[in-house]
Amino acid sequence: MNQESILNQYKLIVQNIEKSAEKVKRDAKNINLLAVSKFHEVNKIIPLLEIGHCHFGESRVQEAKSKWIDLKKLYPQTILHLIGPLQTNKVKDAIQLFDIIETLDREKLAEKIADELRKTGKNPKIFIQVNIGMEVQKSGIAPEELKMFLNKCRNDYALDIKGLMCIPPAGEDSVKYFLDLYNLAQKNGLEEISMGMSDDYQEAILSGATQVRIGSSLFGKRNYT
Ligand SMILES: *Cc1c(COP(=O)(O)O)cnc(C)c1O
Repeated sequence: MNQESILNQYKLIVQNIEKSAEKVKRDAKNINLLAVSKFHEVNKIIPLLEIGHCHFGESRVQEAKSKWIDLKKLYPQTILHLIGPLQTNKVKDAIQLFDIIETLDREKLAEKIADELRKTGKNPKIFIQVNIGMEVQKSGIAPEELKMFLNKCRNDYALDIKGLMCIPPAGEDSVKYFLDLYNLAQKNGLEEISMGMSDDYQEAILSGATQVRIGSSLFGKRNYT
């Protein structure tokens, strides 16, 4: 997509978010649009930064560094979210660059992040990724283990967990999973719920998402296998 069509898609998505919010009598201001810019070049991202958009998502630390170290200097409004798996050897870099980590999914990682926060004094928002469909190939905390994991994060590692994130099973109706994540967040007193992507963000909003993560319908198809 060219810059003009990205801006047009952006407007359309913002309108759709407003419409969905209205349907369930929610304020669209409480629904954050995360522009997922992974695998997209800087020249596609700049138009959104220019109109003042703040929240961007990347899935790989290395790629994010190559694009965002410079972009963040030029556009200090940027709030960068990590939405891909985080290896423990990348934690240091991730904490340097990202403002929000959405993919805390195991204790070893909680420990590493806590170490790094102590050393740097940084304070990113942290979400726990939940393996909402209990899929073997997906990372995330199993729903029934969430409470215990959350307590561990808080008590043993002093992490300030703000919310939950999930990626429902592909090729299935996401709504059931969205509602499951919503209920988990409610039960555990977590305010932020990151769910819904290009194909299902409107359903996610109806199910209580506080953030939707949108890549392809904003920037176009990604070139990767
Ligand atoms: C890539 C990605 C998205 C965006 O997906 P689209 O279908 O392109 O909107 C959202 N969330 C996560 C975790 C992703 O990895």
